[in-house]
Amino acid sequence: MSEPDVVLEGRFNPDQERVYAHVPFAVPPGIRQLEVRYDYSDRIPSDPGLRGGNTLDLGLFDERGTAGSGPGFRGWSGSAAREIVVGEAWATPPYRPGPIGAGDWHALLGPYKVGPRGLEYRVEIRFDPARTGRPRPPEPRPPTRPDLPPARPGWVRADLHSHSRYSDGDAWPGELLVAAAGAGLDVLGITDHNAAVPPETPTGAAWSSLVMPLLVPGVEVTTYGGHWNAWGGAGWYDFREPTSTATGAAMRRAMADGAFVAVNHPKPLGPEWAYGDAAGFLAVEVWNGHWPALNAIALAWWEDRLRRGQRPVAIGGSDTHFLHRPGGGPLPLARLGVPTTWIEVPGGAPTVDGVLAGLRAGRCFVSAGPSGPQLYADGVAEAGGVRLRVVDAAGAALTVHDQRRCVFAAAVPDPDWAVAVPFPDGAIYLRAQVADPYGTLLALTNPVWRAAGGGA
Ligand SMILES: [Zn+2]
Repeated sequence: MSEPDVVLEGRFNPDQERVYAHVPFAVPPGIRQLEVRYDYSDRIPSDPGLRGGNTLDLGLFDERGTAGSGPGFRGWSGSAAREIVVGEAWATPPYRPGPIGAGDWHALLGPYKVGPRGLEYRVEIRFDPARTGRPRPPEPRPPTRPDLPPARPGWVRADLHSHSRYSDGDAWPGELLVAAAGAGLDVLGITDHNAAVPPETPTGAAWSSLVMPLLVPGVEVTTYGGHWNAWGGAGWYDFREPTSTATGAAMRRAMADGAFVAVNHPKPLGPEWAYGDAAGFLAVEVWNGHWPALNAIALAWWEDRLRRGQRPVAIGGSDTHFLHRPGGGPLPLARLGVPTTWIEVPGGAPTVDGVLAGLRAGRCFVSAGPSGPQLYADGVAEAGGVRLRVVDAAGAALTVHDQRRCVFAAAVPDPDWAVAVPFPDGAIYLRAQVADPYGTLLALTNPVWRAAGGGA
C-alpha cells in the first residue's frame, strides 16, 4: 500500500466522550477519489451495553462545509467500517459519490465511548488510490408471499424500522424489500443511521416484474442521547449535538419538511432517550423488536405522555439489521415484521403520503407479527366508548385502559370477536391490548380520545 497523503492523529480523553470533533484536511485540485482508513486504541463494539474501551464513529464533510442539513455532508458510517472510498463515480455505502472538490474537507470523529486509558486515533487518507471493486447489489430473487389472514379493507401491514448496507445492516435495500415481501409486509421503512442519501427502490429489468412492498424512505437520526426516525423528509438532519435544544431544532426542521417523526426505543439499552419532551415528536416507537426486550418500559414511557395530555402515536419497528447473519450484531433476534404496525391508508393502494397520513391520524395498531393478532379500535360517538374487533387471538387476554387503570378485561372467546366498552366517568381516552397467558403482549391499539371520537 502506498504512503498516505494525509495522516490525522490525535487523542480523546474520557471527558471528551460523545463530543464530535471536525478535523480538517486539504484536498488539492484534480482529485477523483479519496480513500479513508482509520484505527484507534482499545477498540470495542458500539453495543450500548458494553463499556471499558473505545468506539470511534466516522463521518465526512466535503469542501461545501459542515452546516446542519447542508450539502457538504458525504456520509456517516458510525463505527461499522474502518475503510471507505468516496469518489466521483462510486462510494462505499453509506457515503455519497460525486465530485471531489478542492478545499478544506473535514473528517467527523465521534468518540461514542472513551475508556479509562483514553482513545488514540490515526486516520490515513490517500488521494486517487485507484480503488476498484465498486460494491454492487445482487440480482433479486422473486419473493414468495406467505398466505396470511386478510386485513380489514384499507389497512396495510408495515415494518417501519430497518437498516441496510447504507448504515450498519448487511443487506441492500432491494434485498430487504424482497425479504419484507416474503414476510407478508405491504410497507417497509428503511431507516439507516444518519443516512446522507435516502434509500431507493431498485429499478431495472430484473425488478420491474416483481411485486414489492411500498418503500417508505426514512432516516434514523442517531445522536449520543437517543435515536429518532424521520420518514418522508428531505435529506439529513443534524445529529452532532446531543442536547434537547439541538435535537428539538432538528426534529422541527424534519417536520417542516413534511416528515413524520418518532422517538425510537425509549428503554434501557435502546439506547434510551435523554431529551425529555423538549423536541415535540409525533410518535413513539413503543415496540422495538421482540416484545420481551424491555418494551414494557417504552410502553410506560408513552403512556406517561398520554396521561399528561400529549397525543404521540404508538408505533412499532423491528430494527432489523441482518438478513445474512441473523445471529450476529447487537440486535441478534430482530426479524422483519416483528412487530408489525397495521395502518389504515386512505384511498386504496398505499402511497408514501397515504401511509404517513394514516400514521399522523393515529389510525394504526401494533401486533407481534404479520399474521396478527389484529386489534381494531373505533370510536363510537353515540354510545360514548370504543368498539374493538379482535382477530386471531382466541384464548388471549384483552384489557382496556384509561389514563388511570384497567377498566375492562376478558378472555377472547372467538377467533373473530367484537366488543364495545363505554367510557367510564372521568376517562380521557381508552386504549386496548391483548396479551398471552404469560403477559407477553400480542397487540396494542392507539387511544380513542373521548372528546374527538374516531381514532384507532
Ligand atoms: Zn436506534
